[in-house]
Amino acid sequence: MRYGMRSINKGCEGRDVQELQIRLSGFVGGVPDGDFGPGTERQVMAFQRDVMAQSQPSGVADMETLEALESFAAQHPMNWQDLACPCGVCRGFGQGLAQGEYRAEQPHIEAYHQYEYAGIHRSLLWALRAIIHYHPQLDLTISSGYRCSVNNRQKGRTSTNHHGKAIDIATHGSREQRMMQSDRLRDDIMHQCNAQLGWQHGNKKSLEPANIAPTWVHLDVRCFAPKFLGDEHFCRNPVELDRPL
Ligand SMILES: [Zn+2]
Ligand SMILES: [Zn+2]
Repeated sequence: MRYGMRSINKGCEGRDVQELQIRLSGFVGGVPDGDFGPGTERQVMAFQRDVMAQSQPSGVADMETLEALESFAAQHPMNWQDLACPCGVCRGFGQGLAQGEYRAEQPHIEAYHQYEYAGIHRSLLWALRAIIHYHPQLDLTISSGYRCSVNNRQKGRTSTNHHGKAIDIATHGSREQRMMQSDRLRDDIMHQCNAQLGWQHGNKKSLEPANIAPTWVHLDVRCFAPKFLGDEHFCRNPVELDRPL
């Protein structure tokens, strides 16, 4: 079923449910498995309560809710310049290199996957919209988005997390203030977006702990199963971000 053609509720399955789950990634979100269970219902209720200001959220993604999601997207446009790779060689989101290749002498797991994904994962950017919504006072910006293999070579960096699977979110102020705000933000993101600190569980968004990211917040989807990391989940511009699956 195409997203937007019907009202969806608990028990529904399909591609439109997947799309809803991506759009609600920042509202106690999980992975877009296309199965509308109690978790998805909780997501819809969080959105209805916190964005639509409903005192008695139904948990049904009716037409009004789907429309509210469109306005929510329009209210939170992305800064694509900040999200794009700064290498000067690729066109902003890598060159699609190294699919299925892993870092030498490392296990074949996502953390070592060298693939330059086809943009930034949509679940991350929809989650960012929620993070911005919940923190209007912080003036959040992207300090690092896509970093392709050329940029890695320029910087002598081996981590491939930022090949589309991660964003770094910055607050502003003195180093002290940024450290404090980043700590608080991580805490909020764990609860509001259902992210984990570290990478112990599969199919959850992950935050780098403060010892790795003291003055910024790094959020990634590297623990998502391969089926949630298909090219269709990545975007390079506003059209791809907001185009239903
Ligand atoms: Zn690049
Ligand atoms: Zn990062």
